[in-house]
Parts: sequence; structure tokens; C-alpha cells
Amino acid sequence: MHQARTTCPYCGVGCGVMASVEGDTLTAVAGDSDHPANYGRLCVKGSALHETLGRQGRLTRPRVDGVEVDWDTALDAVATRLARTRQAHGDASVAAYLSGQLLTEDYYVANKLFKGFLGTPHLDTNSRLCMASAVAAYKRSFGADAVPCSYEDLEEAELVVLVGSNLAWNHPVLYQRLRTAKQRNPLMRVVVIDPRVTDSCEIADLYLGVRPGSDARLFNGLLAWMAAKGRLDRVYLDGHTQGLDEALAAAREDDTHIEAIAAACDVDPERLETFYYWFASQLHVVTLYSQGINQSSSGTDKCNAIINCHLAGGKIGLPGAGPFSITGQPNAMGGREVGGLANQLAAHMDYHTPGAIDRMTRFWTTDSLTPRLPPGPGHTAVDLFEAIERGEVRALWVMATNPAVSLPDANRVRAALAKCPLVIVSECVADTDLLPYADIVLPASSWSEKDGTVTNSERRISRQRGLLPPPGEARHDWWIMTQVARRLGYGEAFEYAEPCEIFDEHARLSGFENSLDPSLDNRGEGFRLFNIAGLAGLDRTAYDALTPIQWPVTAQTPGGTARLFGDGHFATADGRARLVAVRPQEPAQALSEARPLRLNTGRVRDQWHTMTRTGRAPRLMNHRAEPFIEVHPDDAVAFNVGDQQLARLTSPNGEYRARVRLSTGQRRGEVFVPMHWTDRFSGQARMGSLLEVHLDPLSGQPESKHGAVSLAAL
Ligand code: SF4
Repeated sequence: MHQARTTCPYCGVGCGVMASVEGDTLTAVAGDSDHPANYGRLCVKGSALHETLGRQGRLTRPRVDGVEVDWDTALDAVATRLARTRQAHGDASVAAYLSGQLLTEDYYVANKLFKGFLGTPHLDTNSRLCMASAVAAYKRSFGADAVPCSYEDLEEAELVVLVGSNLAWNHPVLYQRLRTAKQRNPLMRVVVIDPRVTDSCEIADLYLGVRPGSDARLFNGLLAWMAAKGRLDRVYLDGHTQGLDEALAAAREDDTHIEAIAAACDVDPERLETFYYWFASQLHVVTLYSQGINQSSSGTDKCNAIINCHLAGGKIGLPGAGPFSITGQPNAMGGREVGGLANQLAAHMDYHTPGAIDRMTRFWTTDSLTPRLPPGPGHTAVDLFEAIERGEVRALWVMATNPAVSLPDANRVRAALAKCPLVIVSECVADTDLLPYADIVLPASSWSEKDGTVTNSERRISRQRGLLPPPGEARHDWWIMTQVARRLGYGEAFEYAEPCEIFDEHARLSGFENSLDPSLDNRGEGFRLFNIAGLAGLDRTAYDALTPIQWPVTAQTPGGTARLFGDGHFATADGRARLVAVRPQEPAQALSEARPLRLNTGRVRDQWHTMTRTGRAPRLMNHRAEPFIEVHPDDAVAFNVGDQQLARLTSPNGEYRARVRLSTGQRRGEVFVPMHWTDRFSGQARMGSLLEVHLDPLSGQPESKHGAVSLAAL
């Protein structure tokens, strides 16, 4: 038996894991006491990691048109059909849809292949469903997609505000750290702002059960309240920001009396003012937000309303202070680093970043190959499937995700997939809802088999290590793409023998023509902040031994960077952060007589995504064994349904059938359903089939938290 360090794949906390391996079996896992994300802790999902693996149910052989084939035949088919599609319909007729489950090295190769050499900008990721609004808001305010905080800031804060985040279920180890810090520091306060009473409320000193969608009004009200009470940090605002007047003017377009804001948010005015007072009185405030803020048709504005309040109070760049977006997936941030979003090019450069296409062309050019980078941006996740529906995109390669379940209006997504002339799916599970739509199926390696890096919510890069051989003929995603690239004539640009070579190229790119020398006056460009050139040149031994480290990592900061913007200098052209004028919007999915209930969606504590792995562990299924519809008891009476009774939710897009769970933690007029169940586990409880397509216009993120449905007994 031997032990090895790796990283948990089940959420954006990115906990370090000590894995015990005997032969080709992972026999036990424990928390890695040296990993700064968790210091030895694991949640129930992480501690069951070894139970969620197994060879049973894995994809082990490639398939082309339903027939099992060898790898050469499959890779030839991928290359030939991609080439044929591009020849007949143009480069932009091919696309990729990726996943925050992929490792950074996989993402890097995919981005380079599609945007650099296949010449299409249409490469997006399921991270679009998770944190695209937070990314867009950071860029608007700071000039860069840069999370300013570290986890330790949660422990150093005097006030922690959880908004749209059930931390206890979705980021459990972070919640444990917060709970322990609160026990050690009785003066620390926690405020929970959420439409539902969740387990996170157990440590709350104050709970605000807001009306769904009213978050921007609440934080605009806070900004106006701080101004009215003389609680703005004028020194910080004058020295380091722009836009206060515009942001305040927008906040004052609505009635700023506490009673009016409380009525709009449907909370008690005294409790609301208590929150405002606590926020304004403390310097060391962390506001931690997640999908309850992001998954909205105005998610970017909501994030900016939060950031505005931090800038207005100078509560950023200090220990225990800052607006902190927590990502859902283990590598949502790693994907952002290499250009995994359709608006990005690579290395935190967007398509509109001046000189970016030329810079990438210079970097990716080899002796005999010049990349052909197309103008962008490409289609974001939901738009991509609409482009397939219209026949514009005719070849799609999906890796490590299941859009047939997770996208809104999922039935329409399925119709688009059925219509797409070429669907290639790289997958590790033999039975998913997506595979029936695939023309070519490629068996991929999974967690514990793959070797590479991930970046967690605090910008910390950690190694995921390959501990076991992949089953059957399963191969690593980066290897599969490299083989296809070679068949298409791009081999010289994809001569990777192992992941450390890909990581080295990624690290070199981040430092390519990217000096942080202030005399060059180039700090006013957001992409310059993402620099891990200090990690370039790692050979296999050094890469294997890489310990967790937070970017930027440069010659000036070889040990990484725990906190950003401590000097009050931001990544905008003039170095000042921007307060953004936010005008609160109602959810786009309108309630009506026919659809009177607001639909909220989310995770349950012990499951991950579509349960292809966590659904295998009986002890994880014990927590919630089947899908459910959570309903307030008063609504149950009004809609004539009872506890544990089978019922159905309907919208014009589809139907969801499950048992009712009565809960007084649910607001009246609202219902909650979990996101995990698919046709594999329950033929009639797919939450994606209920949601209409409404996107944030700035981020392209779907409004998954604000459906409109009716409820009836079955
Ligand atoms: Fe894994 Fe997240 Fe649990 Fe940590 S908190 S063990 S990363 S699921």
C-alpha cells in the first residue's frame, strides 16, 4: 500500500486528499492536513470518494456509429468528420462544450485546438452556468477576473455575510472552517441572506429571508444607507475608485427608506437595518456569494451591487475583507485561466483585449505552423445549442458534462442534439442521458486516474494526481485531443508527452510579453494580473511535487499571492476600481395565474451534479434517496398536496414529478427542487425541463434560480 496526495473533485473548495492505494484499488481517503484549503478536513462527499469510484458502469471502448472500434479507428473518424464539416460549412461550424470537471491541462489543449487551430471561437463550458456573472462583475469593477480573497479571510473577518449561498451543503469544509472560527471568536457575526432557511442558518446571528430576486435592491439600499449615515470611506473612495456618484444615483432611483426597501425585499425593517448597521460598522467584512446571486437574468448587476458596498466602505484588500465569489466546480477557475469561456481567448485575455489575437498567434506559432485565430467571441453555452438548432454549428464535441440535463429548456437542447450531424462525446460513464445523441463516443479517464492541476475558489492551484490506471481502453482527455490534432496536421503544435509539458506551456504563456514592471505602465490591463510565470519550467519531478499555491506566481511573488488589491491599485486602465450603477431587475420568468409559484433549484448536501459518481455510494444516497419538491405547508394546503404525496410541477417547457416534502424553511409562494436527478435515476424529475431560457445579457448565465411553475397532486 502507498499513500499519495491529490485534490477532491466534488466542489470548488478544492480540499487536499490523502489517498491510500493498494494495487489498482483506492482503499481509503483522508483529509490532507497540509493542504491550506482544508487542513485535514473532508466533508461527507469527500470522505466517500473511494466509494464513488469503480470500474462497473465505466466506458471502456471507443464507439463509432454505435459500433465498438479501436482507438485508431475512432480518432480517424473524429479527425475525418471534423475536417469534412469544416470544409463543407466553414471553421465556425464546429464547436466544443467543456466542463469545470476537466483539469487545466485538458482545458488548455482543447482551447488551443479549437480556437487556435480549428479556427472556431465556439468553445464554452458548463462553468457558464455557475460563475459567469461573478466573472463579468469582477471585470467591470476591478478590470480583471480576480477573486481578491483567501479562505483564511473568512476566519479573520468580524462579519461574514452569506448571500445566495448554502455554504453548509455546497461548500461544507469552508462552512466547517467558518463555524470553528466563529466558536473561537465570539465577536464574529454571521448574516445569512437567502430565500430559504438552510442549514447554513445554524450559525447565523441574523437571517434575512429575502424575496427571490431582490438582492440588488437590498445592496443598493445598503449603499444609499451608508451614504445617508456618513458611513462611506471617503479616503478610500477618493484614492482608489471611480463611479460612486453614478452608483449612488442609481441606488436612489428607488425609495431608500428602510421600510420601502424591506417591503421590496419582504424582510423585517428592523432586521434589515441591523444588517446595514453591522456591515457599515465593521471594516473586516467578507461577503460570500454563489449561485443564488449568479444564476439570474441580472446576476452580474447583483454581484456589482455587492462589490459596490465593499468599495464604498474600503472593505477590500485587507485581512478578513472582500467580496468573495465561491465557485461550484473543482476547476471552474482553472478553465477561466486558459480561455475556457467563449468570450475569452487564453490566459485571461478576452477577444476584445487589444493585441490579444496577435500575441496568441506569436506564442502558438511553430516552425511550420501558424495558428488561425478567428475573431470572437463565440457562442456561450445556451446560444451554442440554439446555433446547433439553427444548423449553423454542425459538429459538437462535448467533454465531461451532460447538457441534455443541466441546461435550461433541456428538452429543446435534446432536440438540437438530435439534429446535429456530428456529436462527439468524451465521457467516463457508460450510461448517461447524453450518449444516445453521440455519433462518436470516446472513453475518458476519470478522477484518480488523471494527472494535472485544478484551481479552487481562492485562486489556489493544486495537483490532482493519477493514482490508478484507467479502466479498459479509457484515455486522458488531453491525449485524445492531441491525437486528433496530429491527424489534422497540427501535430507540431501538440507534441505533449505528459501533462507537465502542457502546464509549462500554460505557465509560459501567462508570462509571455507580460512584464509586471510598473515602469512599463502595463498594469492597467486585467489579463496582466494572471501571471504564473514563476511556475514555468517545472520538470516532471518538480511538477509531481508541486504544492498548492495561489496565483499570481511571479519572480516577485514566488510563494504565490494570498490577497489581491492590498495596495488599492486595480487592474483597470487608471488603476482605480469602478463602482457600477445598478438598477434592480425582477426575474425574467414572470409569475402568472397559470404559474403562480417561484421555482428555486439547487444541490443537496451529499450529491454532485448528475450523480454519475456520487449516486454509486449507498451512504450518500441515504441523505436524500429520491428527488423531491419542497413546499411550504400553507402552499401545500392551497394546492391540495400533502407531505410525501406524489405531485407534479409544470411549466410550458416541461414537467417534474416527485414527492412533496413539507418545509417551513421554504417561503410561501416558492418551491425548491434538487438539480441532480436525471432520466437514469428518475424518468420524470429533470429540473432543466422546467426552466425557460433567460440569460444575463452581460454574462450569458442562465436564470436557473427563478423559474415559474404550477403545482398539482398526481
Ligand atoms: Fe470535496 Fe468540497 Fe467536500 Fe472539500 S468541501 S471534501 S472539495 S466536496
